[in-house]
Amino acid sequence: MDIAANIKKIKEELPEDVKLVAISKTKPNEDLMTAYSAGQRIFGENKIQEMTDKQEELPKDIEWHMVGHVQRNKVKYMAPYIGLIHAVDSLKLLKEINKQAKKVDRKINCLLQIKIAEEESKFGISRQEAEEILTSDAYAKMKNTEIIGLMGMATFTDDENQVKKEFLKLKSIFNDFKEDYPSFKELSMGMSGDYKIALECGTTMVRIGSSIFGERNYN
Ligand SMILES: *Cc1c(COP(=O)(O)O)cnc(C)c1O
Repeated sequence: MDIAANIKKIKEELPEDVKLVAISKTKPNEDLMTAYSAGQRIFGENKIQEMTDKQEELPKDIEWHMVGHVQRNKVKYMAPYIGLIHAVDSLKLLKEINKQAKKVDRKINCLLQIKIAEEESKFGISRQEAEEILTSDAYAKMKNTEIIGLMGMATFTDDENQVKKEFLKLKSIFNDFKEDYPSFKELSMGMSGDYKIALECGTTMVRIGSSIFGERNYN
């Protein structure tokens, strides 16, 4: 895998205002440093412990994104440095993020993960549940966290029309919320297999792992 060449190629495909989150989960620091030397500054991980270990070792101007499901009891470990949490799926979790952000005197930006895929296995909440969080008194009182957009994962399928339908649905929810919430600016959708479709559907942030770093080995 030529990590630097992969990043260059993908960057050329992205409009200037679309951010590339390099998903480096399971990959060694050496690989992240190759990407860093190629100019990459945003990295995404799906395990808080692994991300924190990497954050301690690697250059401090890296912006770390948490893209996986978050366990509430681990929020405290990433609160001091996390740049964006992509997959918030409950008010309870948001409250914990706000609490831990306050302790370290920071404001943590979050996205709500909307379930757009048909697969049962995918995490996320409905549009209505997202609306309940956004309009809640509890959220209105939070000073140390802000919801700045939405994230979603499409069904894992070769059926491009299905994927497109799901991304367009998410984009339309995003547009509706954006009218009421000026803080809304990021729409995180698109991975290695479907980011080109996500670009057509108005993504602002793509999360790409294997097309940069190669296939992952889970041992
Ligand atoms: C692993 C992961 C990705 C990247 O997947 P690739 O198919 O390797 O690009 C993107 N988003 C989330 C939430 C992930 O967990």
